[in-house]
Amino acid sequence: MNRTPERRSAADPTRLSVQGAPAEAPAECPLCPRLVAYRAANAKAEPSWFNGAVPSFGDQNARLLVVGLAPGRSGANRTGRPFTGDYAGELLYQTLLEFGFAQGIYKADPHDGLELRDAMITNAVRCAPPENKPTPAEIATCRAYFSARLSALPRLTVLLALGRIAHDQTLAALGLRKAHYPFAHGARHPLEGGRALYDSFHCSRYNTNTGRLTADMFRSVFAAIRREIDAAKS
Ligand code: SF4
Repeated sequence: MNRTPERRSAADPTRLSVQGAPAEAPAECPLCPRLVAYRAANAKAEPSWFNGAVPSFGDQNARLLVVGLAPGRSGANRTGRPFTGDYAGELLYQTLLEFGFAQGIYKADPHDGLELRDAMITNAVRCAPPENKPTPAEIATCRAYFSARLSALPRLTVLLALGRIAHDQTLAALGLRKAHYPFAHGARHPLEGGRALYDSFHCSRYNTNTGRLTADMFRSVFAAIRREIDAAKS
């Protein structure tokens, strides 16, 4: 059963540290002052929105982890589920459904009943950043949660980085050097333990509108991942 979005309490922020962070951040995580201020401004402007650190969504035993950049202000930051409610989610969830990594109907609503199968979606940075641009310090701070997320997936086999920031966050969390794993759309980087990191351009409206990423290009990456995961079954 997939987890539904929930607000996690920040009742004990002293427990939050780079060492021993939980896989999911409390909705009111206090660690990035600029993003905390942005959350507060969004909560004031749109009090009915989620306006918190967005939890990962999907199968706790997933072999595929899709890594996005950060919640979009009026997408995941509004709905509380990654990629839900903005343009990027349309292509991502449609593709996950097509390749058997989701079941149900995506309605851009966290209560649409959609479930991920053998897959989870998370973000390199859990809070919405202004203009979708987290700072290097924010990316580094949120890495504690990302690293914990990786560690909490016992069957993790394939990581899919959507964009360079997700790619770099993944490498940093795994202690790998960027120079040895250059980002490229469609690239597959073998990792230790039989795992692999795939890269794709982010499925943002900007990338699809400009033709940098087409639906077919995106589908090709998922087709390769599907083959790899199916082969690992046998
Ligand atoms: S981006 Fe991550 S580390 Fe920073 S406040 Fe949000 S949850 Fe905390």
